[in-house]
Amino acid sequence: MITPEVFLNNLSKVKALMAKACDASGRSHEEVTLLPVTKTWPAEAARLAFSAGFCSVGENRVMEALEKMEMVSEPGNWELIGHLQSNKVKFIPNKFSRVQSVDSEKLLRRLDAVAATANCRLRVLLQVNAGEDPAKFGIFPEETDSFLEAALSCSHLKVEGLMTIAPFAPENPSVARNCFESFRELRDRLVGSFQVELPELSMGMSGDMEEAIRAGSTLIRVGSALFGERVQRNLSI
Ligand SMILES: *Cc1c(COP(=O)(O)O)cnc(C)c1O
Repeated sequence: MITPEVFLNNLSKVKALMAKACDASGRSHEEVTLLPVTKTWPAEAARLAFSAGFCSVGENRVMEALEKMEMVSEPGNWELIGHLQSNKVKFIPNKFSRVQSVDSEKLLRRLDAVAATANCRLRVLLQVNAGEDPAKFGIFPEETDSFLEAALSCSHLKVEGLMTIAPFAPENPSVARNCFESFRELRDRLVGSFQVELPELSMGMSGDMEEAIRAGSTLIRVGSALFGERVQRNLSI
């Protein structure tokens, strides 16, 4: 686990990259939020993030996140960014502030039902497989109209926007750029045709955050650039 000094040093590098990408695309720095991703790291990583002033961290596995929540006394929110199995849905209300990885109608219905039981309105993002990568979770772009319609009919869910993971192609940034641009266009089209607000566009990770910000990201999810390289990429499973 890295030291607080290394973390703060990494953080200032990430913030500098964010500022540069915002400036290059004429966006104000406040338009883009950084979500530290603490998956695979000990609870100490979340503690570092909350102590540095972040109000949320991202985790991709429910049980791993629940364990860390027990160990972290600093106040802060936990967002789920990884695939959610049906049998774990019951753990979501009161524990996770938002689920970014809603990727099936079955999951929509189950989340709506547990939120109703918990008497809350659960904040969600719909995960789109914008790169149409068969190895990734998320609904395909051509399914988003019917998926959004279903999501909007769930009275205990608050649909705040969309999330995507670009194809992994570090040697060719135009792959991520094209993916993010068509994803933003998809969001803009949905906003027009459904007359709803979908303000959150969660896209961009350590390797492609600059492309994401230039294409209109409002939320970048960053793990390894803050906490160090993981042994495995461990994306969504
Ligand atoms: C792991 C993960 C991230 C962060 O990845 P890094 O490359 O370490 O920044 C972002 N989003 C999701 C969905 C992830 O699973």
